[in-house]
Amino acid sequence: LVENADLTVEGLTVHYGGVCAVQNLSFSIPGGDAVGVIGANGAGKTSTLKAVMGLIPRKVSALRFGDIDLTGVAARDMVRHGIGYVPEGRHVFAGLPVEKNLLLGAYARKWNAETRATLAEVYELFPVLGEMRGRLAGALSGGQQQMLAIGRALMSRPRLLLLDEPSMGLSPKLVEDILAVLQRLRAEGLSLLLVEQNAKLTFEATGSCLVVENGEVAMRGTSAELRHNPEVRRIYLGL
Ligand code: ATP
Repeated sequence: LVENADLTVEGLTVHYGGVCAVQNLSFSIPGGDAVGVIGANGAGKTSTLKAVMGLIPRKVSALRFGDIDLTGVAARDMVRHGIGYVPEGRHVFAGLPVEKNLLLGAYARKWNAETRATLAEVYELFPVLGEMRGRLAGALSGGQQQMLAIGRALMSRPRLLLLDEPSMGLSPKLVEDILAVLQRLRAEGLSLLLVEQNAKLTFEATGSCLVVENGEVAMRGTSAELRHNPEVRRIYLGL
């Protein structure tokens, strides 16, 4: 696995038929940093994440993680390069037990003492998942399913975690819990790319952000600057 690698994305473009969802987007994530992408509904946030992950057709002039060229890497192989993905809407396997969901997150790894140690770390990070390890994932609450989706992605031991709207549909209390988890992962050196409609969460969880509008970067800066920017406050924080 790559330790503390930088992600570089240059000239990312996504089309759906005639619709251009992402236009020539460029950004980088220095190893260990957390970068947020905020923007309105339909701005192109999810498409950006899926395109980085190789889940949808895209054009990109450069896509690198450390020394590795990711332009031709299939989505299922991204985990082998240290990239984890938490999809929008969680997509846990509802009919499988919690622990089985977690083990599926380690599909690219051998099952051994190290994988068992990762499972123990996930249960330490999310004690509720340990308590409910034998329950069907579909029986968990929305917040618990979000924890499970994050835990499942962590089972591949990523160096970079891509998260698509982890706060979606969660109560303010659970959004705080997600924030605490993201801050802890960051403190442990994991790089994060966080796509969110919740600007407050994003500013607190990241060091810098892109504001996207119509698939293009409308603004970028440190999260501290942006959260004090009057225009951002008016549009995204409703202040
Ligand atoms: P949301 O917060 O709703 O997920 P978003 O910022 O993530 O929004 P995207 O989902 O990336 O935005 O969508 C960007 C644009 O691409 C929108 O105009 C959307 O309607 C369009 N789009 C997204 N997915 C498809 C698709 N499968 N086919 C056609 N157009 C799509």
